[in-house]
Amino acid sequence: MAGSEQRRAIIIGAGMGGLTSAVALAGQGWNVQVIERTPGLRPVGYALVIAPNAQRALDAIPGHTVEQIHGLGAIQGDGGIRNARGSWLSRNNADTALTRYGHPAVAMRRSELVDILSAHLPKDALRLGTQVTGVNADTGEVALDSGEILRGDLVVAADGIIPGYERSSFPATQSQYLQA
Ligand SMILES: Cc1cc2nc3c(=O)[nH]c(=O)nc-3n(C[C@H](O)[C@H](O)[C@H](O)COP(=O)(O)OP(=O)(O)OC[C@H]3O[C@@H](n4cnc5c(N)ncnc54)[C@H](O)[C@@H]3O)c2cc1C
Repeated sequence: MAGSEQRRAIIIGAGMGGLTSAVALAGQGWNVQVIERTPGLRPVGYALVIAPNAQRALDAIPGHTVEQIHGLGAIQGDGGIRNARGSWLSRNNADTALTRYGHPAVAMRRSELVDILSAHLPKDALRLGTQVTGVNADTGEVALDSGEILRGDLVVAADGIIPGYERSSFPATQSQYLQA
């Protein structure tokens, strides 16, 4: 895109993925618009464990999110995962997690993470009660149920695990799980 004009990102969905993308892109100088179909930010589910790798991702965005998260929860005692026969697959506690991964896993309420992330959204970036009805991946055009068409230099499909816009935008592409 030309000159110093601010680049625009349209983000479909205001779940954890969409909000994190929006804060990260805004921090890089993008104009962000998050489109969320529900009328309010009501995270589904209750508790959330934020693993060290997720915290590393959050550490890369503005807002000192990770420090705030660490203030909300901490591992106490030992934890781990056993197989069906009861043998330990992995064992952990706060000190080993910190040494091995750089962050402890933190359990907290989903709504707290949503509150922290949405507090760092630019003013007017969030558009609630609006459903995306189509995406043209070639032109960056995003159709809304209001009939409006937005255009982004970047469109982020953060509409959840149920394949939605990545499928309609990129019909030949299969979703893939990427191992870090
Ligand atoms: C029972 C359960 C427990 C879990 N526990 C953990 C855990 O402890 N730790 C962890 O890291 N992960 C956990 N997960 C996984 C985690 O919840 C998901 O990975 C995460 O919520 C995905 O976030 P997202 O933003 O990609 O999608 P979502 O949270 O699904 O958000 C998608 C958003 O897009 C909106 N949307 C969809 N379509 C449109 C449209 N057309 N127009 C506008 N808006 C639209 C939806 O309304 C929604 O708000 C758990 C999942 C489940 C089911």
